Amino acid sequence: MRKFALTKGVERIEARVVNVECDGESGDVKTLILHDGRRIDGDLFVDCSGFRSLLLGEAVGAEWEDWSHWLPVDRAVALPCEAENETIEPYTRATAMPAGWRWRIPLQHRVGNGYVYSSSFIGDDAAADAILGAVEGKPLADPRLLKFRSGRRKNSFVKNVIGVGLASGFLEPLESTSIYLAQMAITYLIELFPSDGVIRDADRDEFNTLVDMEYDRIRDFLILHYHATTRDDSPFWDHVRTMTVPDTLAEKMELWKRTGRVRKYSEGLFYDASWIAVYLGQNIVPDGIDPRVALPDPTGVARALASLKGAIDSEVAAMPDHRAYLYARGERIAAAL
Ligand SMILES: Cc1cc2nc3c(=O)[nH]c(=O)nc-3n(C[C@H](O)[C@H](O)[C@H](O)COP(=O)(O)OP(=O)(O)OC[C@H]3O[C@@H](n4cnc5c(N)ncnc54)[C@H](O)[C@@H]3O)c2cc1C
Repeated sequence: MRKFALTKGVERIEARVVNVECDGESGDVKTLILHDGRRIDGDLFVDCSGFRSLLLGEAVGAEWEDWSHWLPVDRAVALPCEAENETIEPYTRATAMPAGWRWRIPLQHRVGNGYVYSSSFIGDDAAADAILGAVEGKPLADPRLLKFRSGRRKNSFVKNVIGVGLASGFLEPLESTSIYLAQMAITYLIELFPSDGVIRDADRDEFNTLVDMEYDRIRDFLILHYHATTRDDSPFWDHVRTMTVPDTLAEKMELWKRTGRVRKYSEGLFYDASWIAVYLGQNIVPDGIDPRVALPDPTGVARALASLKGAIDSEVAAMPDHRAYLYARGERIAAAL
């Protein structure tokens, strides 16, 4: 991307921003002061400074909306380990733990592990011990602590600053949505880019509405994973099972329970299949169903599903396993380079 951008005339300046000057009247960011004293003026600024949110949070003061009361996990302890066997499963496993959950991500040369937890329910040392005790292979490093908080800026486009990635917000990593959220903001920025040099309120409002909607929908989906649990074996799970959820989620859950319907979206990351997997996976079975479901003959439906399963099984049997696929693909990429 860097090479591509440079060929298109982008100038790359590597430096640390040590100060930011804003226009006294409008409050717009005017100039970045770099550690070597250089000054960079601009009309529009994209803040990618991570949790620091140097321009959006600090310089133009975009307000933070905290969601930790719904998504209380706020730390992770990461621990890579050796792969114990030859099989590379083509998925990440997320396993519930007493104060959160742990990830297990099989990679080509190691397995990534981590315990995502709420610091209100477990201490850092106890969390590190828990992940050390849970991994299957020999640890390849010391446990590494990460801190975060779930929430977002109330607006991600304020004055002449647009926040992308962690500068704009963060949702805990259960559904691995951070890179999607950064990419989504970039896409909306391209679509709404003020190419005539004028930043209009309507463009800012549209950007903020779209970004808020994406964050809010993922937030509700994440909260559902916790709130729908039937676990009652630790104070953490008792808390998330009994907490009050956002109205938007309460309405979605009520609709599902009553009618078996999933709220329809045309934008956003998670659609019917994802929501149904979590509802049914957590044993939330609807009381009512769409009456059309009862119309087809059940024997015919069973036959059609069996034939679909047969087709999937024979496709899977003919495919290389995940390790073979990754290595073959790696070789193809290396050859192309
Ligand atoms: C173990 C782990 C696993 C993950 N897995 C996934 C996953 O599977 N899927 C997913 O979507 N996400 C995942 N994430 C999250 C994802 O990697 C991050 O959310 C993403 O990289 C954040 O990007 P960012 O650019 O917003 O922030 P950062 O990566 O934090 O970048 C911010 C940058 O700003 C720079 N900066 C800060 N202040 C200044 C300054 N004053 N001057 C100049 N530069 C400054 C910093 O040096 C840094 O380079 C994972 C994260 C971790 C830790």
